[in-house]
Amino acid sequence: MLTFTPHDDVTEVRADIMVGRRSIYHVSAFLFDGTLFDSGPPRTGRALAQWAQTQTIQQIANTHHHEDHIGGNPFVPVPAFAPAWTVAYLADPPRIPLYRRLVWGQPRPGAATPLGETLSSAHHTLHVIPTPGQAHDHVAFWLPERGWLFSGDLFIATRARYIRPEDDLPAWLASLRRVLAYDFDTLFCAHAGRVTDAHAAIRRKIAFWEELGQQTRELAGQGYDEAAISRQLLGRDNFLTWWSRGNFSKRNLIHALLAGQA
Ligand SMILES: [Zn+2]
Repeated sequence: MLTFTPHDDVTEVRADIMVGRRSIYHVSAFLFDGTLFDSGPPRTGRALAQWAQTQTIQQIANTHHHEDHIGGNPFVPVPAFAPAWTVAYLADPPRIPLYRRLVWGQPRPGAATPLGETLSSAHHTLHVIPTPGQAHDHVAFWLPERGWLFSGDLFIATRARYIRPEDDLPAWLASLRRVLAYDFDTLFCAHAGRVTDAHAAIRRKIAFWEELGQQTRELAGQGYDEAAISRQLLGRDNFLTWWSRGNFSKRNLIHALLAGQA
């Protein structure tokens, strides 16, 4: 299910994956100045195509290769630009695990051109900033004259508690610290939507993980194992953890923190 929310001259395109009346997952793409930043999951590709016919969309710019960010590309017949690794992935997407196929759908092949250091939209030039971590190929798009960052999955939430084993937490934290060197006050985030006072939000996120790392190490020092630490500091896992057979879990975060990685 797609819903469209205007934020001044940006349109947020939010895809909700519904089980009955319940949304189990959502992800947003953004349309600005003729550029669609990410394209949602394969499952909402047809709805995206219908909506796209009513819009002026000149190009797609992808932040990274995860299927909930590239899945709509083949449904919108415009040029796409993506990180080099994403381009190769898009050309021949591997079969993704069953639980992800059921939630988001299997990505179809699509063509894209590797991003350079900048991306030109109809009236603006955006800077492409490498921000690896949640995905190794992740980039964000910075628009200095507006003070905006189209940030894909870089931010997600201040208190992000679910990560995947393949997420690189130290790289992710380094990317969060690095983007603070850029001048912006608004994030367009795939999960939190429009985030204002963005530097403060990113600093709170960094502090949350740093403090959690400290508490985790303290409890480990007292002999608690990862499962016990996770329950004590973060509470129980949710539906997605069960559904993904532990791929999305709080325990993964505790494990990454304990590995001394952050
Ligand atoms: Zn992602």
